[in-house]
Amino acid sequence: MTAIKPLVAGNWKMNGLDSSLAELGALRERLAEAPVPETDVMVCPPATLLTRAAEILAGSDIELGAQDCHPLASGPHTGDISAEMLADAGATAVIVGHSERRIDHGETDTLVNAKALAAYRAGLTAIICIGETEAEHRDGATLDVLRRQLQGSVPEEARAANTVVAYEPVWAIGSGLTPTPVDVAEVHGFIRGVLGQLLGDAQSGAMRILYGGSVKPANAAELLFVPDVNGALVGGASLKASDFYAIIEVYRAGTGA
Ligand code: PEP
Repeated sequence: MTAIKPLVAGNWKMNGLDSSLAELGALRERLAEAPVPETDVMVCPPATLLTRAAEILAGSDIELGAQDCHPLASGPHTGDISAEMLADAGATAVIVGHSERRIDHGETDTLVNAKALAAYRAGLTAIICIGETEAEHRDGATLDVLRRQLQGSVPEEARAANTVVAYEPVWAIGSGLTPTPVDVAEVHGFIRGVLGQLLGDAQSGAMRILYGGSVKPANAAELLFVPDVNGALVGGASLKASDFYAIIEVYRAGTGA
């Protein structure tokens, strides 16, 4: 099996004003001075910054992603943004099913599945997020929850070329807590196995499965070199170019595990 090139994606969430774009410029400069070709890099700023971010990143290898999309291409849906609009603004990927959307907006697996299909329709990569809550973790229900979320959220049309799965335990997001590398390996292996049942071993074996939840420069090396981990979805630590670069940098040959 060919090695999967990792992806380090930064999710800015509802953070970022025009002044924050300086961080994007700084990241671009840092990666130009000291490239890390071992990994792909993506930044997902809020939709309001996509067009300006696309201008800053033009001609660089840093990919631009968005954080959510509506399932439909256009229509009377005040305040929503379609995948086509995100592509038009310069995005090449979109996060769907982030736990903050599942919790804050009651998004179901069915809706997440429809959003992933919308991403494909618009030519975007879908970054499909799954993850158990703290209560589910405590109850030992993690694998059942993840199986259900994968079955419901990952469309039959998902392929390694158009889909990234991000495992983000809800209790690890923004909390400073992380699962142990052994637990991450078990869960990621399980996810790949379920993806194999859903999509076949060829697609599953080539699909990126990111870990997300309190990834920081200090713990990146221990989390990102775990078997079946093909990169990270980074929240808080992606807001500062220096921290985000320090996470990306663990992939430079020889610096990791
Ligand atoms: C996220 O919400 O996608 C995330 C991983 O957040 P943090 O890194 O801040 O835990």
